[in-house]
Amino acid sequence: MATPTTATQLDAIFDRVKRVIPPLEWEIQKPLVARILELKQERNAAILAHTYQVPEIYHTIADIQGDSLQLAREAMDVSADVIVMCGVRFMAETAKILNPSKTVLLPDLRAGCSMANSITADDVRRLKAENPGVPVVTYVNTNADVKAESDICCTSSNARQVVESLGVDKIIFIPDPYLGKWVQSQLPHIQMVLWNGPCEVHIRFTGEQVRELKQKYPGMPVLVHPECPEDVIAEADYTGSTSGMSRWVGDHKPARVALITECTMADNVSVLNPGVEMIRPCNLCPHMQRISLRSVVNSLERMEHTIEIEENIRVRAKQSLDRMLTVRI
Ligand code: SF4
Repeated sequence: MATPTTATQLDAIFDRVKRVIPPLEWEIQKPLVARILELKQERNAAILAHTYQVPEIYHTIADIQGDSLQLAREAMDVSADVIVMCGVRFMAETAKILNPSKTVLLPDLRAGCSMANSITADDVRRLKAENPGVPVVTYVNTNADVKAESDICCTSSNARQVVESLGVDKIIFIPDPYLGKWVQSQLPHIQMVLWNGPCEVHIRFTGEQVRELKQKYPGMPVLVHPECPEDVIAEADYTGSTSGMSRWVGDHKPARVALITECTMADNVSVLNPGVEMIRPCNLCPHMQRISLRSVVNSLERMEHTIEIEENIRVRAKQSLDRMLTVRI
């Protein structure tokens, strides 16, 4: 029997997010948050939330928060019976691959990813046939069957270290061409066969847009995600994963900073760094935005949508993820 959520608990939660959620909006969200907290107890569920989730999910109902690498690491150790992934499908698949005895729920099956949809297992088999003996490094933003055809996975947090760990002079790097080129710029001695499967959110940023921001706010540091095109990365003071950017802001505490990435993340970083003004040209991920407090309530009430992966694919995909998780960063 779940313990009802008290008004004091809800007030304490609102205190955390009141800088980014107006009181009127909170009045609408509060009963949904209370219901989710009760359902989590009833179902013995843990909620994992990616940094691109809206603050009313990221800072109110989530048990585990982070970027793809952090969520993958934590998903392995979840002891609750049910994992609810507030993120996109490949993240829910990763949780199921790593912790198969759990029921993994994705609140909205439309939460996909342009990058994951850009490449199939057949494409990978063809690339391998064209480049015999060349290892395949696969960004985690891919479907399970693509991971199963790969030698090792990586995230934007560990891509360079993963490539270096192989000790070879040529790799196939899929599917993000910009992350691949950014890694290649740091490891010029390694030849990389790239795939053209960019992120539909980060590809919309331009170098000109960043230069205009720099002119408007002289001296402001610019932090850029490596899924952005090269002319955007060329303007960066720091390039790194979402967790890297978040850490950079926490460590440096600038008065003002530009975050060139999916813009919901700036709200979440802002909650943790109240003294820092966030400037962001706002590109939202339409797939991440599919997840809402209402869809999480429905998911836990109806126990939908469960993620299932064919065992043969799961085991081979897990090998690629396991190899990644042994690489030190
Ligand atoms: S931000 Fe880009 S890479 Fe991330 S889920 Fe959305 S479309 Fe995919």
